[in-house]
Amino acid sequence: MGLAALFFPKHCMICERIIEHSYSHLCVSCASSIHLSIYEYNGIHPMRLQLTNQVIVEAAYAPFNNTAYSAQLIRILHALKYKKQPFAAKTLCALARPQLSAFFEHHHFDILVPVPSHFLKKLKRGYNPAELIAREIAKEQRVAVSSKLLLQPKRKAAQALNDKHQRTQIPPETFRAKVTQKQKRLHVLLVDDVCTTGATLAACYWELKNQGVERVSFLSLFFTPLEYEVKVTLDP
Ligand SMILES: [Zn+2]
Repeated sequence: MGLAALFFPKHCMICERIIEHSYSHLCVSCASSIHLSIYEYNGIHPMRLQLTNQVIVEAAYAPFNNTAYSAQLIRILHALKYKKQPFAAKTLCALARPQLSAFFEHHHFDILVPVPSHFLKKLKRGYNPAELIAREIAKEQRVAVSSKLLLQPKRKAAQALNDKHQRTQIPPETFRAKVTQKQKRLHVLLVDDVCTTGATLAACYWELKNQGVERVSFLSLFFTPLEYEVKVTLDP
């Protein structure tokens, strides 16, 4: 153990036990107990079904399905979203690497575009989780990434606080795309951290489509089935 590790021990992001090795933010027992979904080229992913009535889907995938089995993964996601722990993006992308690689083997994308966050929100948190995820994946899969192509000039109401009905309505002016003639011909992969109703991804899709982008696909690290979320909310 190095001197730094002695004074600033690293804790597992799931169980919070001190970990000795420096290459991970998870202890061995937590890392080995994580439940992963398998990428199936011919299988219909539930996120695809969720998006189908809102957009025209070419490819859509989420390596982690948010179910009763994924409580540990959710702790890492919360560290990324609410606890200002940007390195959680790297941990999650590393865990999903085999599935993501299979997805990228079956589909070709020219550019990854993270779902943007409003600049005030980004300023407060210090980063945009979707952008960190997109950058991790872009590095691993050797695809270009652009966080300037799509912006969020208007603040979106906090999704977790809204009810199911309100959430599916995102004002069309929330997102703004700036697309060059050349970029219109690219296959864009929209990247987000969590997809539930699909309303945010759909709003981004329609803005890109309105600006003339020919092909838009979807990747979210997590997919939360609506019925699961309702159940969690109702549980005391
Ligand atoms: Zn642990």
